[in-house]
Amino acid sequence: MRCLVTSSRPYDQESLHAANQGRHEFSFVETPLREDTAVIARGYQAVCPFVDDTLNSAVLEALAQGGTLLLALRSTGFNHVDLPTAERLGLTVMRVRDYSPYAVAEFALGLMLTLNRHLHKAYNRVREGNFLLDGLLGFDMHGKTVGLIGTGKIGAALARILHGMGCRLLGYDPYPNPICQSLGMQYVSLDTLLGESRIVSLHLPLTPDTYHLINAERLARMPQGALLINTSRGALIDTSALIAALKSRHLGAVGLDVYEEEAELYFHNLCDDIICDDTFARLLTFPNVVVTGHQAFFTAEALHTIAATTITNLDDFAAGRENGNIVHAPTPGAPHP
Ligand code: NAD
Repeated sequence: MRCLVTSSRPYDQESLHAANQGRHEFSFVETPLREDTAVIARGYQAVCPFVDDTLNSAVLEALAQGGTLLLALRSTGFNHVDLPTAERLGLTVMRVRDYSPYAVAEFALGLMLTLNRHLHKAYNRVREGNFLLDGLLGFDMHGKTVGLIGTGKIGAALARILHGMGCRLLGYDPYPNPICQSLGMQYVSLDTLLGESRIVSLHLPLTPDTYHLINAERLARMPQGALLINTSRGALIDTSALIAALKSRHLGAVGLDVYEEEAELYFHNLCDDIICDDTFARLLTFPNVVVTGHQAFFTAEALHTIAATTITNLDDFAAGRENGNIVHAPTPGAPHP
């Protein structure tokens, strides 16, 4: 198939070329899909977008008009795709169902440890010749309660790690995971999880139902000094409410690999630019907030699997074979899969 890879970086090219073995004809552009750029996909049967591409109805209309038949997402999440419009236009949407839950789970643990043990401050301090420990006091993870909201593949991978560290595990998920239950995770209501957890980590998809799941009221339920980690999707958290909870010193620390308005910032080098997003800029001023640019997935193993699955998706689509990676528009009122 002729496939246009948008928002692509050199590492995407390398991994897709390695997995492709000459089967499909790829073109790579750094340009993200937007209403004014969608025309670049004209004539490509398949488009291979990433999480920062816009796939709203206007872009999908333009893609369909240009002859695109398949969106082969290079991501697990598909919250950025207007699925009902894709279905109406006859565009097939496929995703990489799971590539490396370990990559994201291990990164979430990294954020927890960085914030708890103040590694981000210690790194700078030592380089400046300041070897004081004041202000770097942490707590043992062993014996602490960690709440995981969403206990699918990534949540379960993190539960295994935390179980090994001796944490008490609470979970909130409409579909309890037997792997987590076998580790002793207790499934509780969202309010109980928020109220009892020293650390809360988000591992659920962004959907209309989960938009701003973590709002002012729910932040207030968390114990004073609690840590909040988000490696899932930015809009799960109401960022203004988060900033208020940090300013009032209610939250102890926050680790964010995702941000609700990240599309214009992340995956670009803006070091000579002025950041005009004041909310984002405010987040960066807190000493107890660590922000990373959507890099939790970014391991060699994950890139390899993303590329291999994308090629399989193109192969199966071209051959008219069904595979479990097709994403369908949700049926109104149906529970999440
Ligand atoms: P998964 O589908 O295996 O698990 C998601 C879990 O969330 C499921 O068990 C589901 O039942 C649960 N869930 C759905 N709605 C819920 C709700 N309202 N409340 C509580 N739980 C709910 O997905 P996964 O592979 O574990 O990935 C989780 C999320 O991680 C993805 O949706 C994606 O947004 C994010 N992600 C981020 C990165 C990154 O680089 N930062 C990489 C991959 C995935």
